[in-house]
Amino acid sequence: MNFNILLQSWIEVEKNSDFPIQNIPFGIFKTTGGIPHAATRIGDTVIDLYALASNGFLDGSGIEPDLFNCETLNPFIALGKPAWRTLRENLGWLFEASNPALRDRPEKHAEILVPINDVQMLMPVQVGDYTDFYSSIEHATNVGTMFRDPEHALLPNWRHMPVGYHGRSSSIVISRTNVHRPNGQQKSDTDDFPEFGPSKQVDFELEMAFITGQKTGLGQSVSTSDAGDHIFGMVIFNDLSARDIQKWEYVPLGPFLAKSFGSVISPWIVTLDALEPFRVKGPLQDPAVLSYLQFDGNHNFDIQLEVAIQPENQDETLVCHSNFKYMYWNMVQQLAHQTVNGCNINVGDMYGSGTISGPTPNSFGSMLEIAWKGTKPVKMSDGTERKFIHDNDTIIMRGYCEKDGLRIGFGEVATKILPAIQTPQIKNQKS
Ligand code: CA
Repeated sequence: MNFNILLQSWIEVEKNSDFPIQNIPFGIFKTTGGIPHAATRIGDTVIDLYALASNGFLDGSGIEPDLFNCETLNPFIALGKPAWRTLRENLGWLFEASNPALRDRPEKHAEILVPINDVQMLMPVQVGDYTDFYSSIEHATNVGTMFRDPEHALLPNWRHMPVGYHGRSSSIVISRTNVHRPNGQQKSDTDDFPEFGPSKQVDFELEMAFITGQKTGLGQSVSTSDAGDHIFGMVIFNDLSARDIQKWEYVPLGPFLAKSFGSVISPWIVTLDALEPFRVKGPLQDPAVLSYLQFDGNHNFDIQLEVAIQPENQDETLVCHSNFKYMYWNMVQQLAHQTVNGCNINVGDMYGSGTISGPTPNSFGSMLEIAWKGTKPVKMSDGTERKFIHDNDTIIMRGYCEKDGLRIGFGEVATKILPAIQTPQIKNQKS
């Protein structure tokens, strides 16, 4: 099946939609009073895959309908790349403009096709393990410059391996989940002892994450040439961070509570097959990398990214324009590095790219960098200023690819930062 620009659907798709028939992303949704089902989306129409399969419209895909009557996509994803590819192709045929099979069965439409405004999107996968990489050279250089030494901003290992750490999967949540400002320890340079309370430096990190779809056994490694078969797809990833907590806790074992109070993902997983037309060459890696990190072909993707901050009851202000193509380390290198020691991977594991900063200040992917450690506050359209995120601000990230008239997007990931929770213990300490 050719998913080229000429392919059109009998479902209406607005110009500039992130979800033309060429996309076919996967997610989990429910309607009011309904139960979770797997779905795809064309334009603003959610397509219930369970309803579709149980009415016999996916018989050619060889997938049992019950696999879509499920709270997560994990069982479907576990079928492997040939199954993902066959299903995407079957959906492409079924919704292609000239195919009457479902188009001319209007009595079935109400059961299968649901307007996006009538659904609630849920976490698409159960995330087992979560790794956060640090793979943007611009971001690593900016942070190293601010916190250590501009002359030696990158640590000696940085150009030799995709540096990462194991994150916390329990607090990865779906877009439109609001997150409270975290409480924790902070210590200023001038104080002798730390204090405890709400973070004063809540920040976003603009990232993309990939999700693995084929497990490996303990002791097994994945080569850069095989890694693409293990990757199901990608989402936008807002890795919320508390900079003051991070600064005091991160030496010597890295970020801990500063990063585990919430990471927010976009609801639709876009497959690597859909992103294929947008592959681009990555930055030159100098010095040459070790053999297990070498790769053939292009593994960066031209994904335009933006971040907006929307204060309560105000218009949003765009604070960042970046692009996933800037990443120094690509996904196949990240997965090869993750597994080179024999660490096994599972279906539904998530891998954050690390903050995606570009070369110019308007492309920096965190408030830490945009407001340069609080020294360059950002003006909002309502006249207020931001160094970090205020209570009741909503952070909105969007991402899409566009080339030769074809646009494939991720939609958005949004989250509102609520005031810190005052626990009795905290009240006692303050009184
Ligand atoms: Ca991160």
